[in-house]
Amino acid sequence: MRLSMDELQITTLGIGHGDAILLRWTNQNKQWTCLIDGGPSLERLIACLDEEQVDEIDLVVLSHLDSDHACGLIGLAKKKSVKEFWGPALPAFQRHLWLFGEKGVQAIERGEELEDSLKSKNVDICYPLEGYTMLPFPSVGNLTVISPPSKLFRKLLTGDSDDVIELFSQQPMPLGWLQEPISEESEEQSAFFVNLDAALSRNFLTPDDLQSLPESREGIRSDIMRLSEEWARNTKTEPEFFGDSVLNNTSLVLYLEVNTNGRIHKGLFPGDQENWTYLLARNSRGLHADIFKASHHGGQIYIESNQSSHEELFSSIQPKVVLISANGQHNLPRNSVRNSAIRWGSTIVCTCYRNIEFIESINNNAESCHALHNCTEARNVTIILNKEGIKSETPACFSGFGRHFGPIIQIRQHVVDPSPIVTHLYEHELRRHIKWVKNKLKEIHESRLEKALFLTEGSQPITDDHIVTLARQENRAILVPHLSQILNEGMRRNEFWAKNKCSEWQSYQYPTKKDIGEYLSLLEQKAMILFPQSIGNVVRDTNSLILNLDITGLASYADATLRFPSNMFQDSFWPEVAKSFKNKEWHCFIHKLDMVAFSRYSIESLLEKILSGSLIEGYNGAYINIRREHFPFCHPVLVSGKNNKDKKMGDYEQKNCVEQCITINQKNYSQEEWEQFIQREGSSYDSKTLYINNLWEYSGKNIIKCIEILKKNFEQLW
Ligand SMILES: [Zn+2]
Ligand SMILES: [Zn+2]
Ligand SMILES: [Zn+2]
Repeated sequence: MRLSMDELQITTLGIGHGDAILLRWTNQNKQWTCLIDGGPSLERLIACLDEEQVDEIDLVVLSHLDSDHACGLIGLAKKKSVKEFWGPALPAFQRHLWLFGEKGVQAIERGEELEDSLKSKNVDICYPLEGYTMLPFPSVGNLTVISPPSKLFRKLLTGDSDDVIELFSQQPMPLGWLQEPISEESEEQSAFFVNLDAALSRNFLTPDDLQSLPESREGIRSDIMRLSEEWARNTKTEPEFFGDSVLNNTSLVLYLEVNTNGRIHKGLFPGDQENWTYLLARNSRGLHADIFKASHHGGQIYIESNQSSHEELFSSIQPKVVLISANGQHNLPRNSVRNSAIRWGSTIVCTCYRNIEFIESINNNAESCHALHNCTEARNVTIILNKEGIKSETPACFSGFGRHFGPIIQIRQHVVDPSPIVTHLYEHELRRHIKWVKNKLKEIHESRLEKALFLTEGSQPITDDHIVTLARQENRAILVPHLSQILNEGMRRNEFWAKNKCSEWQSYQYPTKKDIGEYLSLLEQKAMILFPQSIGNVVRDTNSLILNLDITGLASYADATLRFPSNMFQDSFWPEVAKSFKNKEWHCFIHKLDMVAFSRYSIESLLEKILSGSLIEGYNGAYINIRREHFPFCHPVLVSGKNNKDKKMGDYEQKNCVEQCITINQKNYSQEEWEQFIQREGSSYDSKTLYINNLWEYSGKNIIKCIEILKKNFEQLW
């Protein structure tokens, strides 16, 4: 035995289809031995262990209850010395026994048999959960459980069959809900739950913790039969395997870190984990491992969807060595998994060796590489990791070039950008958070609408601090670190308005179609909408003209009437308004090259209405204004621009002015009365008086003539 140098030996035992992985870690001439799973038969396992001269095992781990992992362990403690046992929390499955298909029921019964045989040899049974760590040699490494999360087991241990049935019936088994916070109502305060939560919080359970679980009521047998048949059709298996994905996806996933005289090696042993969504989300910077025991014997794995996603998984793990334990049964290992590993430059070490070497093959449709390569029976294969590197004692199925040495272009071709959703939140989570934010924004907008309509200051969008406060109030603290991602995605999907300004987010509810329709009809009721322009700056091309308009006043008007903050106007109302301005129902005028105006009236009918005084409407909102120098008789006109407080109006309150004009017009003043009014107001109008007087002259005598004069000041563009 090599005991001089610190090293880790990983032996994939040749037990056929199944897993039995032997870890032998030597540190300063002491050895720690761990067996992960026992394959399908004790006899075969003992033969393999004898071949490796192993008689004492410090830790036996059962990743999950399936027979290809568990059967070999039943009775092992009677043949070899076993100090400690880790396994899946059996009672969690026992209480849902009636949901499982025949294979699952057998697996659970075997689990009971295994625990009995361990208890008879006084081996401690532990059910570790995510976060549980063991230090075989303190300060030079550790063995950590990175899945299953305690929340998943809490559900299995306490939920009714109604609560857990979706774990059975969906493919892949859903794991997205694991990052949602536990809602307050569901927090039971009974002694049982207090004790269970205390036990879960230390990241492991023991059989003693799970003595008196609440009963899970049995439902209708035929419903389960129907679900299991549907599931079997979807997964192309048999109903007897119903529940198997629950066993696989509650696998103990182990992460081993070993320091051999300064060189650190990392190994990932995931049992038959199929759905990697939770693991990748929890380890968003990557799962990086030198040694990766291929999940589920080189079978399908899933991330987010039911699409096979090996490339993403390999991009997260970047393994130097992929260990495969399979012998062709169930079409495993998949050729596609082997190909992904090769593309990632990993060395593949398989318990079966190839008999055929393909130089070039055209009709290469075999699902399993075992069939394709006419591989041998399984046998023990060992790799050794120490300060000098990693070596295999037997030929590898494929000798990878390693990601550090491969031609860069070849590696880059297969670099998979981790999707931003996987790295932080996955789709299901994200959608829920976006929906929550959307509802909050809607509530805020509705409550603002209920309050008084008139605003002295414009309304403001919602800050991210505000949302954080709301989230904490509702126990949604989980949303807080992801808020900018949620707002960004929500905006991208048009669920609400959001904008990032100086790294702070503002958000608000989008106006509905109805809001926009209402706003457009308010604009249509205006005689005119005026956009002051600096002289000579009017662009005549339709699109540029519209896009260059100063929309400040329009935005304030949307705030004043419908309570949408003016800084979101450009992204919400404006595209619709601009579109509407272009169509034939609106006319566009330029006045003396210093103003662009939009009106539903043609210039003739507009002037006619103005001069005949029929365009009077009530005062309507904070930014309605009149331009008396253009129109002697008042009418509501919306002025949009930064200087919408018309300087030429002097200090008059716009409101008063409008009212006065309305009064004048309604009284149908005589020329004398009008002149008196002008004289009274004269100081404010100075040079305009003459113009207005002239206009009055004409309007009194000949409206047609008056229109002609006024028309000279206007050019109708459309
Ligand atoms: Zn398996
Ligand atoms: Zn399995
Ligand atoms: Zn192979």
